[in-house]
Amino acid sequence: MSYSKFISARGVLALAAALALGVPALASAQAAQPSAAALERVVVVYKSGRGAAVRADVAQAGGKVAREIGAVNALAVRVSPAGLAALQRNPNVEFVEPDVERHVLGSSIQRAGITGAGATGTEVVPYGIGMVQADQLSDAYTGNRKVCIIDSGIDLGHEDLAANHADGVNLTSSGHWYTDENAHGTHVAGTVAAIGGNGVGVVGVNPGGHVNLYIAKVFDASGSTDSSVVMDAVQRCADAGANVISMSLGGGDPSAVERRLFAQLASRGILSIAAAGNAGDQSISYPAGYNAVMSVAAVDSTMARASFSQQNPDVEIAAPGVAVLSTIPPNIENLAQLEVGGIAYDAAPMTGSPRFSATGALVDFGTGEADDPAVAGKVCLIRRGNVSFAAKVTRCQNNGGIAAVVYNNAAGMLYGTLGGVPTAIPSVGTSDTIGAGLLARIGQSTTVAVVPDPALYAAFNGTSMATPHVAGVAALVWSYFPTCTAQQIRTALDRTALELGAPGRDTAFGFGLVQARAAHDFLARRGCPAQ
Ligand code: CA
Repeated sequence: MSYSKFISARGVLALAAALALGVPALASAQAAQPSAAALERVVVVYKSGRGAAVRADVAQAGGKVAREIGAVNALAVRVSPAGLAALQRNPNVEFVEPDVERHVLGSSIQRAGITGAGATGTEVVPYGIGMVQADQLSDAYTGNRKVCIIDSGIDLGHEDLAANHADGVNLTSSGHWYTDENAHGTHVAGTVAAIGGNGVGVVGVNPGGHVNLYIAKVFDASGSTDSSVVMDAVQRCADAGANVISMSLGGGDPSAVERRLFAQLASRGILSIAAAGNAGDQSISYPAGYNAVMSVAAVDSTMARASFSQQNPDVEIAAPGVAVLSTIPPNIENLAQLEVGGIAYDAAPMTGSPRFSATGALVDFGTGEADDPAVAGKVCLIRRGNVSFAAKVTRCQNNGGIAAVVYNNAAGMLYGTLGGVPTAIPSVGTSDTIGAGLLARIGQSTTVAVVPDPALYAAFNGTSMATPHVAGVAALVWSYFPTCTAQQIRTALDRTALELGAPGRDTAFGFGLVQARAAHDFLARRGCPAQ
């Protein structure tokens, strides 16, 4: 089992808090409690009718039930290695598997040129809306559909989302279902249902405020969670009457119990849709990789495959996922400010930089690999290369530097991350050309600031951004033919997708680009298709 690779320190703390707040069956644990670090994180699937017995056995083994997924006879359990061995031998247990990680699959790339709140009095229609033909089909009937979004919540107070019908559940210890401490979920929700014609912001696939949203919050600010939390969310989406489940998330490890849950959902008439993944290789991401789930690849505004979009035989359909403009909560993302000698320069915040402002003389710190007491009290100008951004910033800080500016060693702006390494000074990235110019300004007064970004809209990249286009189109098309089954809607979307890439289904685009109007017309002509 591998867990810690992608989870930030903050994520681990949040998970620990969620467990502490937990869940039934904590009090009866009898064995000595091992430290949290020694506990195995597993999902235990019990044989039919043996749930109560296994629950008692978990307690007997010194374990804790963190979560219940009753639809598939599963318990998320935290237990010592010895207790795990006992459960694996338990005749009431069908199987035990790791409780694997799931992550958000999209991220911010640039600030949008619109600030909302009627600043310009204009509304922008993102390119993806026309590309999937959402603008050719009224969403007047979508009040008969419910889309469940499993993500980081939604900023329901947002000016371009507040008019929607939404309900939800919070499975994290962060905020409420109607708040979003990450921004990813609000971005996804805006693609499904940002309000059109209100003179501000953007337009979603279903812009009329008719479609029903159910928000299952599984991610806090860290953007990582356990598959058992996602399964709990899936179960709650189904119980809430969702027709479509949109999952802009995934992870590389398959789960037999997840696979079973999504197969069950399909048989219950629910259409599950998930992101194909952003690794840019041939690997398969889950839940997208299960047969019962549509796997969505990403294309850009020219319908070319996004370089990050995973290619494999499971990819089923494609949608816009590059520079997708949508809604975000204000003051979650960061903004960088860089001013040298009274002149402002473009800069991007290092992901993970503290929010802080510092002013001092600019000093050349080379590539930030060697100690130099001369940087004390000054702003380090550092060239990219050889060591990590976190190592450069940390060395600047340890030598008494008060801020760090890292410039690119290749063409273009530097968008860097500290990779979860905690630092105390503000750090930003800038371009190779700006860096070259700043080398001529050593000694000048420099201000570096990382501040909350008040923007209400931003462009994100990811198969995460493609996924809600397909989920929104599925609900839109289905609203005209509510007697069709989930599988029939899935078939109609696949058969009417716009051919891209190699003829027929291919590993980059699946059947091609999802097309709302074409799928509608197909169903209008042929009725719900035979399977
Ligand atoms: Ca709008």
